Amino acid sequence: MSTPIDTQRMEKIVSLCKRRGFIFQSSEIYGGLNGAWDYGPLGVELKRNLKNYWWRVMVHERDDVVGMDGAILTHPAVLKASGHVEGFSDPMIDCRTCKAHLRADQLVEKKGVKQCPNCGSKDLTEARQFNLMFETHVGAAAEESSVAYLRPETAQSIFVQFKNILEVSRKKLPFGIAQIGKAFRNEINPRNFTFRSREFEQMEVEYFCRPEQGMELLEYWKEERLKFYENIGISRERLNVKTVSDKERAFYSRGTYDIEYDFPFGPQELEGIAYRTAYDLKQHQDASGKSLEYFDDEKKERFIPHVVEPSAGVDRTILALICDAFAEDQAPDDKGKMESRIVLRLHPRIAPIKCAVFPLLKNKERLVAKAKEIVDLLRPHMFVFYDESGAIGRRYRRQDEIGTPFGVTVDFETLGEKDSKARDTVTLRERDSMKQERVGISDLLQLLSMRIA
Ligand code: ATP
Repeated sequence: MSTPIDTQRMEKIVSLCKRRGFIFQSSEIYGGLNGAWDYGPLGVELKRNLKNYWWRVMVHERDDVVGMDGAILTHPAVLKASGHVEGFSDPMIDCRTCKAHLRADQLVEKKGVKQCPNCGSKDLTEARQFNLMFETHVGAAAEESSVAYLRPETAQSIFVQFKNILEVSRKKLPFGIAQIGKAFRNEINPRNFTFRSREFEQMEVEYFCRPEQGMELLEYWKEERLKFYENIGISRERLNVKTVSDKERAFYSRGTYDIEYDFPFGPQELEGIAYRTAYDLKQHQDASGKSLEYFDDEKKERFIPHVVEPSAGVDRTILALICDAFAEDQAPDDKGKMESRIVLRLHPRIAPIKCAVFPLLKNKERLVAKAKEIVDLLRPHMFVFYDESGAIGRRYRRQDEIGTPFGVTVDFETLGEKDSKARDTVTLRERDSMKQERVGISDLLQLLSMRIA
């Protein structure tokens, strides 16, 4: 962990993201909206693959978790009860010289004196609390009674629907409710590309349990979540588990871990795993006057469940995936001369495009027809890409740069023109090793499906 800040690497990554259509600045043609990002054709695929895999592991492959999808517009009473209206704020300081708004923890300190990180001025205001929630108005009248908020986290809609979901799912403790969705925070300083945005997506599970199970489940979820990151291809050496100290932890939490990733701009939080006790359900029960208790049939006990929450950011995980996968190495061109290449070593399970299919030459009708046949064969099962333009080496290189793990080339051997035994075989090239093997078209689907599962 804790490699020095690598600005050059980060610049290359940001540039690749734009050049190849992963991530664009939002409202770019109007100068951009700070803290908002749009995902392009490849970014959206990467994001969907990540979210689908999270949902598969956290919901479909388990008997004890069900899903939900809550509204973004949130009743103010929900966020009053949760403590967000009163306390979801960061301390903000203004620089009187360059007029920057700064989060208090971003000031630099030289010889014990706090300074503005932008201009070095020591002329700073006192810290004041700045609430991070976006407020809006519902309905035609913009008055006090019409206030609503864009949710600052997905968690609260889970707590508020706890009773309904308990009834319809008929789950017994321990069980969880999962959600993936947008959250909004008016961050004082959005920065580090998509890392700190004002609009972002979260993947959260609220895992309800008996009070005596809380600490054990905190450990359990920490391990599960580390496995998840490894299973999407993030290297373990760049992950760090930080135990959040008593001082830094929310007052209601009995234990919190942050899973951090060693980004080129330093180690930063990807996910928080918090044992939140019965705080949230109790707050909503008290404020709404509706019982949010659970009845344990066997023990004949009624109580408010405790909860452990693994809460991950989609955008931060996408950024970690790209940073982890980004590499520059040497590869041979069409004449065998070594040249440098950029390659995204994304796990096949997460890569936007799974397989690219190339006819060796675009002006040979039979090659093109055969390649298109292969595209049709694979397409119902995975996202494939057909490319016939340019030298084959160049086509490989374009796919390497966007992380496509497999390339299939249809050549004259495929047509059986050189050797009838090679008829209906293709070259399968693997992105990282650049190794090529000859495989039968009839085996292709099974072979690829196994490797991208
Ligand atoms: P930080 O300390 O970095 O502001 P946090 O501790 O406030 O994060 P949580 O409230 O625990 O974050 O939110 C859970 C997850 O949601 C975070 O681990 C992160 O992945 C994601 N997240 C939170 N704020 C942002 C943001 N502004 N931009 C992108 N992702 C975010």
